[in-house]
Amino acid sequence: MDGALFYPFPDAGQQTAFRVLVILSLVLFVFLVGRRVSVLIRTKRDPRLEGIGQRVAALFYDGFLQPRQWQYQISAFFHFLIFWGFIVLTWRSVSLLAMGLFPSFAPQYPPGAVALVYTSIKELFEVLVLFACTAALVRRAVVRPDRYRGSRQTDAYIVLTLIGILMVSDMAFEGSRMLLLGHETGWKHSSSISKIFFSGLDARTLQRLITWSFWVHMACFFLFLNFLPLSKHFHILTALPNVFLRKRIRGEAKPPRWESPDIEALDEAGVGRIEDMTWKQTLDLFTCTECGRCTDHCPAYAVGRDLSPKQVIMALRDCARGHFIPEQSGKGNTGDGGQTQNAGDLLEDRTIWACTTCGACEAQCPVFVEHVDKIIDLRRYRVLMKSEFPPELESMFRNLEFSGDPWGNGSGQRSGWAEGLDLPRISEERPMKTLLWVGCSGAYDSQYQHVIRTLVRVLKAGGMEFGILGPWEQCCGDVARRTGNELLFQQVAERNIDQLKRAGVQRIITACPHGFNTLKNEYPRFGGQFHVLHHSQVIQDLLGNGQLTAASKIKSRIIYHDPCYLGRYNNIYGSPREILRILGEEVNLEADRNKAQGFCCGAGGGYMWLVESGSRVNEARAAQLVRHDADIVATACPFCHNMLTEAMGALPAGTRIPKVRDIAELIGEVL
Ligand code: SF4
Ligand code: SF4
Repeated sequence: MDGALFYPFPDAGQQTAFRVLVILSLVLFVFLVGRRVSVLIRTKRDPRLEGIGQRVAALFYDGFLQPRQWQYQISAFFHFLIFWGFIVLTWRSVSLLAMGLFPSFAPQYPPGAVALVYTSIKELFEVLVLFACTAALVRRAVVRPDRYRGSRQTDAYIVLTLIGILMVSDMAFEGSRMLLLGHETGWKHSSSISKIFFSGLDARTLQRLITWSFWVHMACFFLFLNFLPLSKHFHILTALPNVFLRKRIRGEAKPPRWESPDIEALDEAGVGRIEDMTWKQTLDLFTCTECGRCTDHCPAYAVGRDLSPKQVIMALRDCARGHFIPEQSGKGNTGDGGQTQNAGDLLEDRTIWACTTCGACEAQCPVFVEHVDKIIDLRRYRVLMKSEFPPELESMFRNLEFSGDPWGNGSGQRSGWAEGLDLPRISEERPMKTLLWVGCSGAYDSQYQHVIRTLVRVLKAGGMEFGILGPWEQCCGDVARRTGNELLFQQVAERNIDQLKRAGVQRIITACPHGFNTLKNEYPRFGGQFHVLHHSQVIQDLLGNGQLTAASKIKSRIIYHDPCYLGRYNNIYGSPREILRILGEEVNLEADRNKAQGFCCGAGGGYMWLVESGSRVNEARAAQLVRHDADIVATACPFCHNMLTEAMGALPAGTRIPKVRDIAELIGEVL
């Protein structure tokens, strides 16, 4: 057969009309995308290109294999089909486009081996994608999963329908072509189906079908293309770049400004105007798919606080659009599409201060939107530029500044817990390489001091030599940073780094995941490079090397609660579990919400000092844990220890209450 017969246009007029359509559509597309890109150019700096090799690997794993999607298996299945179908079928649409523009691109028959394989795969995907689009449409319209509440469903309906039409029109094109040419390619799945409908049609009608299905396909293709920059489906273009450009050190809060991390050198801090966001923060806003997974996993939302991370992102996005591209401003979240609102004042106080910075939202987001840095930046603006923050924080800030700890106990009492333990005090006069960083809870929380004393006994039993800073240790500053007081954070960080350097410290062990995260991930930017270990890592090593041996097993059912700053922010899930595996006699239980999906204890982001109204996050977590009928809730964080202990006491009478124990206490029992 002659390839020219396959050319879709019967006359030169249609060919010219098609060329005009292509040019106008592409010009419009470049204009619309250019306007979005121009927004990114007008925002602040954000270096994101270090570690290219790791980024490429992460792009392939998280961008193409999309493991995060599988938390929601049904929608992941549909998305998987549509995503891969989209990749396969984009080539088809582009080749049809080329065919319409240039007759020489019309395929010759019989096809070569590559074309045969591609056609077979393409036709299989057309059937699968059509099925996935139909199922996704029905699911959205009928099942209406709660996480889609507040999302723009119309965008999804339009895009799924357009994709469906693209599939059907190509099936019609291919089926009528086969009948006309009397030639079949590949496995014939989709075009075989359309052939059933078209068999018996004469050659003239089939030629018309070829022409019209081609027109419908290309019109939908250009509609789809130009709808992307106007809708939440812009993520089809930005999701993979956003995955590639993600933050590399999850536990480090973004500096107030990349051009100068030193807060004292800046005239302004935080996000007041939308231009104060970085281009990557803005790209996040444009990449959000409104899937609602972040809100579905947010502990603050779960207990009824006025915080939905999805709505925060949508409101900021509407504000960015309203500010930079007024005619594309969204509707609903900001009332006026954000046009008149200052980004810093856009969200209610109760929303900004509801976050525990647990990171559950970020760990769920399939396109790697970074929520927590945005919330911290909004807090910075309120705290540093407007002096507006919850009243409970005022005394905490003052205590931290003048006493070096959030409760205001002062350095004089900082090493009271260590009396009788014969621990060296490390200082300039008595330098030592290994330091036990006690943390404020270890130093002052009467419930937790026992844990630190036990940890000292365990480390000594393992043959370790270490000391403490005693009165020269101060709060690491985590709480100041997470509550937006960057100035205070940098002051305490600089004092601590100076002290640690003068004392010759090289290795730091700590039981506090917040201190661990700050010392390990945040101090290096201020010149403090130390080898920081969490006590679970050290104990695991001591047990593994045989330096510690458990004399007996714990005969209790143990469930482990993952601290957010240890697990999600630092990926330490294995060490505490390995210790429990060695210590426990019975099977160690896993909570329903565990590891990256773990549920916060409610203490992060300043909530050890903020007053919660209504339902409490720690009580919600305690209620989840007691369902497993464990004897012991093990954890590895002083905040979790404190919050869960308190919450267990508030459970209804008659509940079987497990004891809350740190892993150091558990090993201490069986040494
Ligand atoms: S960090 Fe935690 S509390 Fe804050 S918005 Fe995300 S999930 Fe919610
Ligand atoms: S931020 Fe991420 S998880 Fe949340 S709605 Fe948007 S895409 Fe989904």
